[in-house]
Order: sequence, then C-alpha cells, then structure tokens
Amino acid sequence: MDLKITVLGSGTSSGVPTIGCTCEVCRSTDPRDTRLRPSILIRHLDHNIVIDTTPDFRAQVLRAGIRRLDAIVYTHGHADHILGLDDVRPFNYHQGGPIPIYVSRPAFAIIERVFEYVFDNRERKTHVPRLDVNLIDDAPFDVLGLQFQPIPLTHGKDTIFGFRFGNVAYLTDHSEIPESSLDRLHGLDVLFLDALRHRPHPTHSTVEASIEIARRVQPKRTYFTHMCHDVGHAATEASLPPGIFLAYDGLEIE
Ligand SMILES: [Zn+2]
Ligand SMILES: [Zn+2]
Ligand SMILES: [Zn+2]
Repeated sequence: MDLKITVLGSGTSSGVPTIGCTCEVCRSTDPRDTRLRPSILIRHLDHNIVIDTTPDFRAQVLRAGIRRLDAIVYTHGHADHILGLDDVRPFNYHQGGPIPIYVSRPAFAIIERVFEYVFDNRERKTHVPRLDVNLIDDAPFDVLGLQFQPIPLTHGKDTIFGFRFGNVAYLTDHSEIPESSLDRLHGLDVLFLDALRHRPHPTHSTVEASIEIARRVQPKRTYFTHMCHDVGHAATEASLPPGIFLAYDGLEIE
C-alpha cells in the first residue's frame, strides 16, 4: 500500500512553546521543539486526508503546502482537535463542493454545538464551511479507498477513537488502551502514541507508559506525539529504547 504521512502537529493542546513560559524547551532553538496542535496528513492514491482540524489548521495547511483536501477524520471533539474547522472554506471554494468528514456521534454533537452557524441552514450571503457528515461507530469505514479501523481509547472518563489504516495506527489521546483495542494493533509498521510528559496525567499517557505499550504491541517503529514542554526532543529521544522516536512537526513517513 502506498501511504505517505506528514505530521502536521506533534504538540499537546496548548502547543509548544506554551504562551508565557520561559522553560528550556519553550526557549529551545531546535525546530523539533516547536509543536503545533496534534494532527497528521495522510496521502493515499493522490487523496489528502487529515486527521483532526486543530486550532493551527490554517498554519499547518500552508506549511505543508496542502492544495486540496479530500476528507477529514475526527478522533474526538476536544478543542485542540476541532477548532480549525472554519478554515476548510477555501477548500470548498477551490474544489467547488463539500468536504466529507468522518466523526463519531459524541464528537459530532460537540462540533455541531461549537460550529452552530455551519449547521443552522440559514440563508446567508457569506460563506460557511460546507461539509458532508458521515457518522462512524467502532466499525471499519472506507475513506476514498482507504479503510479505517477505529481503535477505542480511554481518554479520562471518555472513550474516543484512534485509527488504524493499513499498517499504521494513530492514537493521540489515551490514558488507557483497552485490551480489545490492543488486539487490533498486530502487525503494525508504524504506531503513533500519546506521550504527554513524564508525570502522570488523568487523561493522557506518559513517555514511560507508552514505552510499555510499544513493547507489548511490537510495531516496527513507534512515534510519540501530543507532547508538552516537559519533553525536550533531543534529550528525550536519546533516552528511548530502539525503534521508539519522538514525532516532530513536518516529519514525513512513507
Ligand atoms: Zn515551557
Ligand atoms: Zn482530548
Ligand atoms: Zn488532544
């Protein structure tokens, strides 16, 4: 299968540098320590699919040179994963049609509330995003010829989705991964995991916990993402076991 992945953002909800912070990582000159909010671009058969539309969506699209957007797949409805949705309007304009989105019912309920003006069907003379909404549950679904397998993840008190497509799995927000979900992760080439920081957090995984998950799942390569400013790129990556890396903005994987 011909898949190309670009990491559009590898940071946690507040991004790195974090506003007002003068810590070593926030002041770092290593470009890998500058992290926009979490998202990836998947290129498959000339189609561009993004997972999530972060508050940095516009900057991410411009930086990655994305000229066309064919679909959006949502992990969940938290602000750091949805707030850039309004910026799909130029794609509607250039492509002349709605953008298909694939979203769970609970995540769509949030999107519908936050972006009420998109769904109110009012006559207006200005442009709002035009979307073709596809509700998903935990059954596999097809996006333009690429099959997505939802991977249920425990994210604090919520259950949200990561996704497996081909031999890649993208799991961004998890405090626990249920056994039944681990069973869906055999034979991976690439696994993305949440690794917020070292200290425990009620809704996110840690570097140490995600090393353990990688040991169990045994993908060929693991990339950590959704990282905060406690995790400096160079020093943290040097401390990781073989086959485990930190993702960074702009990272491309074939
Ligand atoms: Zn900082
Ligand atoms: Zn979240
Ligand atoms: Zn998040």
